[in-house]
Amino acid sequence: MVTWSPSVTLVPTHGCFNACDYCSFRVPLDQAVPLGLPEAKEQLMARPSAAEVLLLSGEVPPDSPTRKAWFARLRQLSRLALARGRLPHTNAGPLSRHEMAALARLNPSMGLMLEGVGPAYDALHRRAPSKTLAMRLGQLEQAGRLGVPFTTGLLLGVGETMADRSRALELLAVLQRRWGHLQEVILQPWRPDGEAARPLSALEQRDLLEVIAMARELLPPEVHLQTPPNLWPLAQLPAALEAGINDLGGIDCVDVINPAYPQPTPEVLRQLLAPLGWRLEPRTCVHHHWWPLLPSALKRHVEQCARLLASDPAQAHAPHT
Ligand code: SF4
Repeated sequence: MVTWSPSVTLVPTHGCFNACDYCSFRVPLDQAVPLGLPEAKEQLMARPSAAEVLLLSGEVPPDSPTRKAWFARLRQLSRLALARGRLPHTNAGPLSRHEMAALARLNPSMGLMLEGVGPAYDALHRRAPSKTLAMRLGQLEQAGRLGVPFTTGLLLGVGETMADRSRALELLAVLQRRWGHLQEVILQPWRPDGEAARPLSALEQRDLLEVIAMARELLPPEVHLQTPPNLWPLAQLPAALEAGINDLGGIDCVDVINPAYPQPTPEVLRQLLAPLGWRLEPRTCVHHHWWPLLPSALKRHVEQCARLLASDPAQAHAPHT
């Protein structure tokens, strides 16, 4: 079985104080236009089949006078999602303990990429103050201490070595053994965007298959391994599943991080995978194993969404609109 989450992405703001070298998502903070509630409602209405609402935000500095309003918007959008019968999953960069605890009452799961360990990442993040290894590991630790079902991942193919990858995966394995909250590790190939977009070469695919196998060996078995299906040549996706991928993540109509790589529809994925014996199953943003961590009110929302996904496959499998 391979799972996926019918998802819609809301971007509270593209404004970000970091400037990661590879980023085509951010705009400078002073040019950012925050997402208004009417637009958010429209975007939710346009994707009635999306059970997950991914709140993917640029980062505001912790000491900024605009931080409070930014955080209030994250909570407001989370509440909007819940009120519409959806499940918010926030990925908005490092949060204080208080902020993370407050969002965890509204978000069944949250996420933050570790990205990686080693000099290749240090170079890419030299203008990104929140992307230090210590900061990211501290966030994963904090989420564990708070009992938040959490998604993290590695950005691959940016010049890191196999030893760097193995060290990053070992750090995640230690965190999972300590706290048990890591529900997914995304193994995300870095891809050039815009006119430079190109499919993964055969060499890159072989390299990634090795990382997937390494991740399956190093991470505890309950941790799902995820890869975005639009970043693989479709015909090669089964090889990634054979190597250990068992989740395709949230699938929206477009990938806001890599817009040059079109998302395959669930129907196309099903047609590809079913003849090979893979059953494609929709899921909520929080995998079943982690439901016991949820506050009871939030758990009821999740159970309701899961029932809808299970009882109304036509809805869960509705074509992207
Ligand atoms: S933190 Fe995220 S949004 Fe900000 S510059 Fe880096 S990749 Fe872009």
